[in-house]
Amino acid sequence: MPDLAISYEDVVDAQERLDGVAHRTPTLTSMTADAIVGGQVFFKCENMQRMGAFKFRGAYNALALFTPEQKAAGAVAFSSGNHAQATALSARLLGMRAVLVMPNDAPGSKVAATRGYGGEVVLYDRYTENREEIGRRLADEQGLTLVPPYDHPHVMAGQGTAAVELFEDVGLLDLLLVPLGGGGLLSGCAVAAHALSPDCRVIGVEPEAGNDGQRSFRSGEIVHIETLKTIADGAQTLHLGNYTFPVIQQMVGDIVTVSDAELVEAMSFFASRMKLIVEPTGSLAAAAVLQKKIDTEGKRIGVLLSGGNVDLARFADLVKAAS
Ligand SMILES: *Cc1c(COP(=O)(O)O)cnc(C)c1O
Repeated sequence: MPDLAISYEDVVDAQERLDGVAHRTPTLTSMTADAIVGGQVFFKCENMQRMGAFKFRGAYNALALFTPEQKAAGAVAFSSGNHAQATALSARLLGMRAVLVMPNDAPGSKVAATRGYGGEVVLYDRYTENREEIGRRLADEQGLTLVPPYDHPHVMAGQGTAAVELFEDVGLLDLLLVPLGGGGLLSGCAVAAHALSPDCRVIGVEPEAGNDGQRSFRSGEIVHIETLKTIADGAQTLHLGNYTFPVIQQMVGDIVTVSDAELVEAMSFFASRMKLIVEPTGSLAAAAVLQKKIDTEGKRIGVLLSGGNVDLARFADLVKAAS
């Protein structure tokens, strides 16, 4: 069995680093949700995390572990979404520079939020330019350290702290469902579950349109896919990571998929029943449970709501088009 990139100790260390910095987000319940699934559901609300998503945990943990030289030069990340904001905010809190490489067609609100956290935004054309090349060039020229969005042990350990808090709050679980993009969140949470609730079955949930994670899990090899179309923009990753995949293979029970329509239904449920704004990607795990993609009868189920960053007008359009 190959050595895994992180252990439970790494997650505990990350939790100490995040103490007093990240929000300890609430775990909410709903009698309506319990009635729908025939079990007891616990929603871990990372849509209420600083900057609006769990990604703050991993980015802050990674930046906090920079050497003094790395801290002096700063961080660079490429992302159109939550990882950019997470890196910008973490850098500001740690007194560092952060350069964020974002596509020039990224939502104005995301670019503005990233700049609002003090991040230096470099725009690129996603049809003619390669963001990884730009990121690497900036890193070389300015001595910046690249912070990957998911495939890095410090990022994975940071993300796992969300599940640690959930188990601390509610005790043992039968099932834990987690949104899946590149697998930073899922791998970190699986390591936490393995230590704190060993019999808990951990399940990753990804968009139907991009089921590379499910295919990788079932075939035993990382499957790469073409650009996919889904409203779950935080899970548009094209493949799992070299660090995240072995953890997922060893500690995750299964990977299931949900459709965009099912995501919108879950978003509507959260807004109308629980007064929560959850972004499409943040609703992946919840949609799988509410649609009973797995057997939930009589079970205690943890559901990670991973983020809440969605433009209000877009949220309204999605919900309205479905009703
Ligand atoms: C990034 C992101 C994900 C996917 O996380 P991975 O670590 O890439 O699997 C899920 N939900 C939200 C809201 C995200 O921003």
